Amino acid sequence: MSKQTKFNFAAGPATLPHEVHEQIISEWLDWNNMQVPLVEVGHRTEQFTNLMAENEKLLRELMIIPDNYRVLFLHGGAQMQFSLVPMNLLGKNNAADYLIYGHWAKTAFNEAQRYGNIKAFNMRSSTESYEIILPNENELNPQAAYLHLCTNETIDGMQLKNLPKTKAPIVADMSSDILSKKIDVTQYGLIYACTQKNLGVSGLAIIIVRDDLLNQAMELTPSILNYKKQAEAKSLYNTSNTFACYVTGLILQWLKNQGGVEAIEKINLRKAQKLYACIDQSHFYHNKIAPSARSIMNVTFNLANKELEEKFLQEAKGYGLLYLRGHKVSGGIRASIYNAMPEEGVDKLVGFMQQFENQN
Ligand code: PMP
Repeated sequence: MSKQTKFNFAAGPATLPHEVHEQIISEWLDWNNMQVPLVEVGHRTEQFTNLMAENEKLLRELMIIPDNYRVLFLHGGAQMQFSLVPMNLLGKNNAADYLIYGHWAKTAFNEAQRYGNIKAFNMRSSTESYEIILPNENELNPQAAYLHLCTNETIDGMQLKNLPKTKAPIVADMSSDILSKKIDVTQYGLIYACTQKNLGVSGLAIIIVRDDLLNQAMELTPSILNYKKQAEAKSLYNTSNTFACYVTGLILQWLKNQGGVEAIEKINLRKAQKLYACIDQSHFYHNKIAPSARSIMNVTFNLANKELEEKFLQEAKGYGLLYLRGHKVSGGIRASIYNAMPEEGVDKLVGFMQQFENQN
């Protein structure tokens, strides 16, 4: 058992593993025998380019990324990709399909509309439906440059469990569930994720893109935002976010030490099951998502009214259960339980929820 007494359930920037905090502190003043902190080390030094190469190697190993995919570490987080994906992929055929069942895919769709002929598919039958219904293959455009989807809707607490059948390359926003479970990279043309959830701190995005998609950028795409140019420059077209790259490296190594994705997936499933069981066994907490669409990373729930939710949040804070407030667009409570949330954090939350129910 660790000595950890406070648990951060924020959706992102999110909790980092304890071991990673300790490593950052221990090597802060003298990184890699360079006598200065990492943040003062040049991005073109041998040591830093080695760090980038090691990050790529680790990510390839953990996700089993085939050789015909490039791995990029780019500025700007996930929303930056809402523009970069259309700019980089709509140059030849100007059409794409977007599947929507939550906030982030809707935002990505709104942004993409600036660049081409974008069609939206609503995967929920109504705003009151919390089930995900995939479109049939014959409804989708086989000529589309790509089909965009979000694998986990962080705000809505919903997660896609199956991919649609389509001839178009699938582009996935995996910001909030990358590395949380095994996936088959070859099912995707492009995967992107911001780093402030399962990959470290904010300011960076990871892009995994199949080689054949690197030759279809729109003319207007700025060089620094061009996937092909960034791939050629090994993501060092300009000064990169060196600190975020460093923390991502520590996270990847930490995950490898935990036994990799397969091992963390088992823990993640157990953590989510404990929380959903606690909710389902009570008449006090309510989760409206269909079981087939429930997220294992972001568990959302409500209490009978807003006053009770406020009381819950206040008392939880007193127990060291922090940042459980739901996103402002959906309200309620949200427990983000990414890879770095220890199981004991979830156990403590479940214990608190049972106690709060008994006392209210
Ligand atoms: N997509 C998803 C699924 C997200 O959860 C988030 C952030 N919470 C974003 C996109 C936007 O990420 P960023 O703030 O890094 O632009």
